[in-house]
Amino acid sequence: MKLKREISIKSPRLRAIRNNLREILYLEWDKRSRAIIHAKSDLLDIKPFQEEKFDELQEKLGENDIIIMPSIIVCGWCHHRDKDAIYNPSNRQWFCPDCYNEHKEEILNAESYIY
Ligand SMILES: [Zn+2]
Repeated sequence: MKLKREISIKSPRLRAIRNNLREILYLEWDKRSRAIIHAKSDLLDIKPFQEEKFDELQEKLGENDIIIMPSIIVCGWCHHRDKDAIYNPSNRQWFCPDCYNEHKEEILNAESYIY
């Protein structure tokens, strides 16, 4: 997407559906993140230290973060999951209207870390 876009849902029922879908996706993302962090933690107890495996898990954790950060599931600033969203094309992230309006200058000047 190359243009700023705002998605606003007025219907309370549709908002509830949106919020529930976001929650389901977020919980799956969180479960995966926790599993990777747990696996990394387990590696710290093994001697000799398995650096290659640890780095592999670290990379996997980064890849998992890249899934959620540009998504509409969470606000790129406050990480709330229950608000309308505005897409900022300059850094390719979604923000809730409150954060977008309050931090507009920083958001518009932010660089994308997503390639
Ligand atoms: Zn926000």
